Amino acid sequence: MSSQQPSASPPSGVEKTDEEWRRELTPEQYRVLRAHGTERAGTSPLNAEHRPGMFRCAACGQPLFESDTKFDSGTGWPSFYKPLDGAVGTSNDGAYNMQRTEVHCSRCRRHLGHVFPDGPQPTGERYCMNGAALDFAPASAPSGSAKKE
Ligand SMILES: [Zn+2]
Repeated sequence: MSSQQPSASPPSGVEKTDEEWRRELTPEQYRVLRAHGTERAGTSPLNAEHRPGMFRCAACGQPLFESDTKFDSGTGWPSFYKPLDGAVGTSNDGAYNMQRTEVHCSRCRRHLGHVFPDGPQPTGERYCMNGAALDFAPASAPSGSAKKE
């Protein structure tokens, strides 16, 4: 029951303690979102998620990707060709001397995955996401064609 931890560096962006994150997230989610981990390919149940709905940030709930933009990239990670407007931010990730573009939630800034320039049209981009960083909310109202456009 020793729940008092010396908080060395308070998290920026979202006002939660490390302990709160640990309590609310699964260990795998915590590892990906908080520690920039990458889940093992093929481990996310979201790979097989094909229902219409919304993929949201597992940390803060912000909608990130519509199921329409999900495609099977064959990588073993949930992949999308387009995020919602303003839903994600990117930064240059020079880790391991590989030029990758890191993708994070624009709201809570938690790490989501990476984006690569080899995706399908119309964007040509491949957002390679950690399933553990996402939360899927199935579309609830099938009546009256919720299809956009
Ligand atoms: Zn978020």
